[in-house]
This record gives sequence, structure tokens and C-alpha cells, in this order.
Amino acid sequence: MAGSMPCTFPGGVHPKDCKEFSREFPIEVAPAPGKVRVPLAQHIGAPAKAVVAKKDEVKKGQVIGEPQGFVSAAIHSPVSGKVVEVKEHPHIFGRPTLCVVIENDGNEEWAEGMGGDPEDVSALEPKEIIDRVAAAGIVGMGGATFPTHVKLSSPKEYPIEIAIINGVECEPFLTSDHRLMLEEPERVLRGAEILRRTVNAKRLVIGIEANKPDAIGKMRDTAKEILPDAEVVELHVKYPQGAEKQLIYALTGREVPAPRAPKFGPYFPMHVGALVQNVGTAAAVYDAVTRRIPLIERIVTVTGTGVESPKNFRAKIGTPIEALLEAAKVRPEANKLILGGPMMGLAQGSPDIPVNKGMSGVLVLTGARPDVSRACIRCGKCVDVCSQAIMPQTLSILAEAERFDLVEGYDIDNCILCGSCSYVCPSKRPIVHLIEWARGALGAIRRKKAEEQKV
Ligand code: SF4
Ligand code: SF4
Repeated sequence: MAGSMPCTFPGGVHPKDCKEFSREFPIEVAPAPGKVRVPLAQHIGAPAKAVVAKKDEVKKGQVIGEPQGFVSAAIHSPVSGKVVEVKEHPHIFGRPTLCVVIENDGNEEWAEGMGGDPEDVSALEPKEIIDRVAAAGIVGMGGATFPTHVKLSSPKEYPIEIAIINGVECEPFLTSDHRLMLEEPERVLRGAEILRRTVNAKRLVIGIEANKPDAIGKMRDTAKEILPDAEVVELHVKYPQGAEKQLIYALTGREVPAPRAPKFGPYFPMHVGALVQNVGTAAAVYDAVTRRIPLIERIVTVTGTGVESPKNFRAKIGTPIEALLEAAKVRPEANKLILGGPMMGLAQGSPDIPVNKGMSGVLVLTGARPDVSRACIRCGKCVDVCSQAIMPQTLSILAEAERFDLVEGYDIDNCILCGSCSYVCPSKRPIVHLIEWARGALGAIRRKKAEEQKV
């Protein structure tokens, strides 16, 4: 479905995109941190296990955390220096998480075999590529943080026909993917081609929202030169256009089935012949496969009404958010901090959090007041915008009543936590938070049942 007509999906919302705060600012290297604090849990799946201890000397790119099982990811040191502690510290999800804290010696000394010139990898077998991606600890950098080597290892019965590279960046305010496509289109496209080749997909499509015409032009021009059969498709500007299932639908018309019950699901893009990877992930795959560089840095937008000098930083994983906020000059009247975008990001009470692999933005706002939530007036607006065709109001009411036994029947597993329902609710109900909470409670019930069945 290539062409110039914007493509889209049913439902969704149109928040103001607010990209003007930061989209014109080129990527700049974030100030070198004196210390990095690298969490061992930065991905979906089992946290990595620390393989270094206090006082160990480490090189840049050295493994400091080994994956625990297939759905897990390796963690590497973003600097050369000395480990000063391996200890629990605050994390983006609110719970303290084990982190490796490393004093940066400033020498940027690479571990052996890393960081050289790109090698020709055209003869590598898919298995070798997947091994390099796994060794580099690559995870979905659009925020999902699902280990990339797992996505690339789809079983033979699910052949991948289309590799989709996600350059949508539909969250308001965020511009890290936009700048990456403008400034490093070749790195993205070469990584995309490695991904396509690994899964043997016939088509390679890069989807970008129509509010980034310069990025669309740059990616098309570069693709013409180095990858002429890649399709760069302009998508309608609508939230959550960049969500995996919505993007697949917009580009192929295929629907990833809803996981109606655990025994029938979960369903993934591979079940409809698709692989989706973010543009940042594609660029990281290029580095990992051609230069053996692990995922130790990423682009982070620091933006919002609460900063004087918005930025798109290239920041080392483990860099304290405080350092980025200082460089972007936080206004004294700023009163809200969100890690991620305003729709799916996580509000934080403190900036004492390090940059992680899935963090695309730091949003600082002024004038934010706590919303006063009221009862549901059954207006149906949340149902109209839900692109997953579920009933957000019913789920939120069931969650409030703690009827976790009923939420499964209302498709709670199919919610992608996009926040569109909360965004349109005139009663300011925290629908998405209630759904998230109910999902956690349902997970605990399922685990308990599974344990009981084992006995
Ligand atoms: S119910 Fe879930 S998928 Fe539907 S709009 Fe709300 S957060 Fe998004
Ligand atoms: S939008 Fe809010 S008030 Fe309207 S039906 Fe949904 S939950 Fe109720």
C-alpha cells in the first residue's frame, strides 16, 4: 500500500502535536556524566544478572549484566571506568531496581573488538545476525523495550512478509525519531535492510506521520540512492498511529487478533506476517551487526513548556535525568515531570532516575493542575476513540469495584494502554490507570491459579 495518500486506522484522537518546541534542534551530545547508573531491568522479560562487582574496572561496551533466559537482554557499560556499587535505586516504574553504578574515567575506552569501522555483513546468515543483536542487548527503542532478538526469531510456521520500520512518533512533543531520520537516514535504512533480510520479508516499509514532511523527503531521497525497493509511506496524523497493531493495520489492512483468553493468545505481529521495529532500533541494529556496538546510548528529547532550551540529546544509558534537565534549563515555575510523552509517559515525583533504553523523551510542563475525577456520565466518547474496540468505561468501573474476575471478559488484555480514552473523558476519569491496575490484579489471579493447578 505504498503511495502518497495518508493511511490510518479506526478510532484514535487528535491531540495538538506540540512538536514545534524541539523539532528544529539538531541532536547534540549530552554532557558526559561523572557517574552512570545503569539499571539491570530495562526491557520486557527477566532482568539481567550483574556480572561485575564494586571496584571492578570496566571498558565501554563491556557486558555488566547477563540476560536471564531467552526473553531478557544483556546490559553493557556505556563508559570506561570503575564500578562503585551494585545496588537498588529508584527506577522509572516506581519500584527500586538493581543498578550498576560506574564512575566515568572519561577515556571512552572500548572493550575489545568494538567500535571499529563497519564491516560488510551481506554474507551473514540470519542466525549470526540474531546472535549479534542479542549480544548487543538491543530492545525496542520506541518505548516497548521488547528484546529485538526474540522478535527476529519467529517460528517457521509464521513467515514474515512485511518488515515495518516505525518512524511515526505520534506522541505529542517527542522529536527524537524525527531528528534521527533527518540526520542519520542511512544508518536507519541500512539497519532496516538488515532486519528485513534477517526475517526474509519481501517488503520493507517505513511508516512516517504526515507532520514530518522533511523526514519523509529525506528518507525517500536516501532510500532512492541506497535501498530503492524500500517504501516510505506517509501516514495520517492521529494518535496512536505509532502503536504496533494500529501501524500494521494502517499499512496492510491486517488485524492482529485480540488475546481474548490466555489459552488463545497472546497474538503478535508475526501471526499476521509482520515485523515492526522502531527507527531507533533499526539504527542500533546497524551498529550492533556491522560494528559490534551494544545499545549504550540513545536519543532523548527534553522538551515542554517547563524548559527554556529544549534539546534532542544523544545520551548515554544511565545518565542522570537531572543532568539533561540542567542542560535544557528548567524554568522555576515548572511543576510536572513526565518520562516519555504526555499520552503514555510516566509522571515522576523526582528526577532521580537514569536514562534507559526505552526512554525517548523527558517532558517538563508548567501550569499542570491535578485533575479532579468525577463519575462516568456514560457519554461514550472513550468507546468512540478506542482503536482496540473495547469498552474503556466498563473496564474502569469494574476496576473501581475491584471486580477483577470480570475484566477478562471485557477484553482487558487487548488494551494497548494508549491513553486515548483518558484524554477525551469529560469526567477526567483516570481510565488508563484503572485498566493498568486491574490488569496487574488479573495477572496476580492468573499466576495464583497456575500455581494451584501445578499442586
Ligand atoms: S481502553 Fe486501552 S486501547 Fe482503548 S483507548 Fe483506552 S488505553 Fe487505549
Ligand atoms: S468518556 Fe468518561 S464519562 Fe464518557 S463514557 Fe467514557 S468514562 Fe464515562
